[in-house]
Amino acid sequence: MSREIPYKTYLTEKEAPRTWLNLKAFMKEQHDPFLNPATGKPCAPEELEAVFCKECVKQELNSADKEIEIPDGIRNFYKTFRPSPLVRAYFLEKALGTPAHIYYKFEGNNTSGSHKLNSAAAQAYYAKQQGLKSITTETGAGQWGTALSMAAAFYGLDLKVYMVKVSSEQKPYRKEVMRTYGAEVIPSPSDTTAAGRKILEEFPGTGGSLGCAIAEAVEAAVTTPDCKYVLGSVLDHVLLHQSIIGVESKLALDKYGENPDIIVGCIGGGSNFGGLIAPFMADRLQGKNNTKFIGVEPASCPSLTRGKYAYDFCDSAKITPLAKMYTLGCDFMPSPNHAGGLRYHGMSPIISKLYHDGYINAVSVEQTKVFDAAIAFAKCEGILPAPESSHAIRVAMDEALKCKQTGEEKVILFGLTGTGYFDLAAYKAYNDGTMTDYVPSDEALQKSFAALPKV
Ligand SMILES: *Cc1c(COP(=O)(O)O)cnc(C)c1O
Repeated sequence: MSREIPYKTYLTEKEAPRTWLNLKAFMKEQHDPFLNPATGKPCAPEELEAVFCKECVKQELNSADKEIEIPDGIRNFYKTFRPSPLVRAYFLEKALGTPAHIYYKFEGNNTSGSHKLNSAAAQAYYAKQQGLKSITTETGAGQWGTALSMAAAFYGLDLKVYMVKVSSEQKPYRKEVMRTYGAEVIPSPSDTTAAGRKILEEFPGTGGSLGCAIAEAVEAAVTTPDCKYVLGSVLDHVLLHQSIIGVESKLALDKYGENPDIIVGCIGGGSNFGGLIAPFMADRLQGKNNTKFIGVEPASCPSLTRGKYAYDFCDSAKITPLAKMYTLGCDFMPSPNHAGGLRYHGMSPIISKLYHDGYINAVSVEQTKVFDAAIAFAKCEGILPAPESSHAIRVAMDEALKCKQTGEEKVILFGLTGTGYFDLAAYKAYNDGTMTDYVPSDEALQKSFAALPKV
């Protein structure tokens, strides 16, 4: 083990960042605005404020301020699980026999087990500051609902989580963590909303979908006094909150004079990747580095690598504003993949724009290869990674193996977004040899593109 750079670097409480980094303020061009699907006109702030907290809308539309202060109330909650460690993956380097320096930023060290708590904390805090009594959200795989239930408990807000019915049945223990933190978990579709009742009538016995859960959560928010809806990824303000990952990473790497040649992150809605790359991309946009940024998606849900850059609904119930993004079409039903957090038809508008303008590379990987990497990583670095995070591990390992061929001592940083303790059914499938790969056909994608809204 090298003497100079420790295995783990934790920033002290004093060194912890006091600001988030607003990547949009560094971008040469902004992404196209949200459109109201009824009028085709850009959404006014008031329209967004009907659904979301005021401060989040303000942040959503802020492309001027490079840094945005993290209020003390949020920094206090961050103290319970941040700063997160930056790990020099010496054992993985040794196992691969690579001259590359591999680092990962580990975001799984909290009860919810993922980076999602970074934005849950901020959004719950702002809801409380605004004087709201409750918030609503949906959850698919359950990570976001779990994170938000922790944040709602900390700030003293009531929370209703509409959880896709099949997930609530498949992951009963996730549901129990949410309930333990005081959230009300409602399997969706439910009879508590008009949207849910309509689906139940049309499709009795359905296992539900994320689109339906979103529709229920939004309806509950707009029909309940002092209640708003919160979202765990995709939106610009979520990426802003997640920039804490990148800002801390850069502070730690700067101590050792290490500049990443390659940064790798998994991409579902794009929030952890957007947060991880934020300060490095800001430098890149100012011509200060030549870092290569790689977003990794599942081959079963390839929004960047095979999607279209177009206006689309953010949800399959078609009630949200239209966003300009890489999308597979909001009707696209990704096949069951064990990385539930990456099964989203669209992509963050910021990440989409940067990709479109050539600043970001994207690759897609098949899940059996992802699990090969997950297990190799778990054996030498000790952490059982989430299937989502393992997409980044796969590509970081591939890049490190290229360095083995060329002898280059590249610095590779990847985001380890969470742990996989609630994903043991996926590990079981892998261990049993029953895990399969699914790649959608061009025909299936064309069919879904044909249904994109015309704007
Ligand atoms: C939700 C989730 C992701 C993907 O979400 P992004 O918004 O793309 O970051 C990745 N990893 C884990 C562990 C998650 O829970």
